[in-house]
Amino acid sequence: MTTPDPSELTAQYDRALRDYDALVGRGLSLDLTRGKPAPEQLDLAADLLTLPNGEYTAPDGTDCRNYGGLQGLRELREIFSGPLQVPAEQLVASDNSSLALMHDSIVHALLSPVPGAVRRWADEPRVAFLCPVPGYDRHFALCERFGIEMIPVPMTPDGPDMAVVEELVAGDAQIKGIWCVPKYSNPDGTTYSDETVRRLAGMPTAAPDFRIFWDNAYAVHDLTEDAVQIADILAACAASGNTDRALVFGSTSKVTLAGSGVAFFGSAPDNVAWYLGCTAKRTIGPDKLNHLRHLKFLRDEDGLRAHMARHRAIIRPKFDAVERILSEQLGGTGLASWSKPLGGYFVSLDVPEGCAGQVVSRAAAAGIALTPAGATHPYGDDPADRTIRVAPTYPALGDVAAAVEGLAICVRLVATEQRLKAAE
Ligand code: PMP
Repeated sequence: MTTPDPSELTAQYDRALRDYDALVGRGLSLDLTRGKPAPEQLDLAADLLTLPNGEYTAPDGTDCRNYGGLQGLRELREIFSGPLQVPAEQLVASDNSSLALMHDSIVHALLSPVPGAVRRWADEPRVAFLCPVPGYDRHFALCERFGIEMIPVPMTPDGPDMAVVEELVAGDAQIKGIWCVPKYSNPDGTTYSDETVRRLAGMPTAAPDFRIFWDNAYAVHDLTEDAVQIADILAACAASGNTDRALVFGSTSKVTLAGSGVAFFGSAPDNVAWYLGCTAKRTIGPDKLNHLRHLKFLRDEDGLRAHMARHRAIIRPKFDAVERILSEQLGGTGLASWSKPLGGYFVSLDVPEGCAGQVVSRAAAAGIALTPAGATHPYGDDPADRTIRVAPTYPALGDVAAAVEGLAICVRLVATEQRLKAAE
């Protein structure tokens, strides 16, 4: 891709400006900000509004109306054991949010030493986490909330840049954790290679209490019929003698009902005992009626997979529209590159350095709301000002198409303006 000569550049800019003015004139009001399921996806779980149909006894005889059962219904844990790669006896089924479990795990680690720790994290002079970028803004918000320093690590097509990760964790005992979204990562859709998983599990760390926060939020959220497989992190940790290294999280937020699903925590037995010991002070037990209705609704792992295929039928056309429109409008221009995810909820769009913030504001002025530029980086600061997260699941297909067409115009406008200035 060679940069066009100045007159061609001016013509491109004029075209983009005309298109942009027409876009603003349309008075759109569209929202591509958050990765929420669309109402039609929530409708797929409509039966949950009536289940468990007056029943309250779990297959093992548990009276789900009552207190207790801190680890959650066993039969439900069995359904998610395979997809989350955690033996059912090491899996905890909880209430509605895995983010809450990540929050609690950090709070527990601050206040009660994790297995293998010399002291609790609150007594450390400094606690730092590695943050693969681009990444999930709510992970970063948790770190900010608890004063945990964030150290960005670049993502590669195979996951975090492991040479960087290995060097950092080997040399700094205050690095206590790393955020990982191993499958269809938020926002770039990356899936970690087996080699990355093996190296994460096996790398020497200066901190004896280093933890991998393995947020497998998109474990069953495939956009193609060929589900991508990832290596088993708990098995890899055990095989390298770092048995307690990984904490696994997941939920049904984007399987059943985003606000009323079931979240899961899984790990090695010592960590599960530590986690449940801390959690026992916080609650007498989870919402087991919600577990029961999920069990009745999903039935088994096959039922879960069949349900996810119905989600795919709704959201795949939206991802296809994003890909088609970005290719048509920006392909071959050298103005942008973007991810082509095989699952998950996001597309990551990279524009020329220094342009992301302006693209987002131009889009906002044209009635297209995007996640703020920088949100994919710790402290909201994308030093290259380059990455924009696109979340196409929630709006109707026609709105996704209109929003991405508008976004492409904003990219053309801002990027050609930058090129023109550089050529002056
Ligand atoms: N982790 C990731 C990577 C996510 O993208 C999201 C939702 N956007 C969550 C966690 C939130 O999960 P939950 O609804 O279970 O709290």
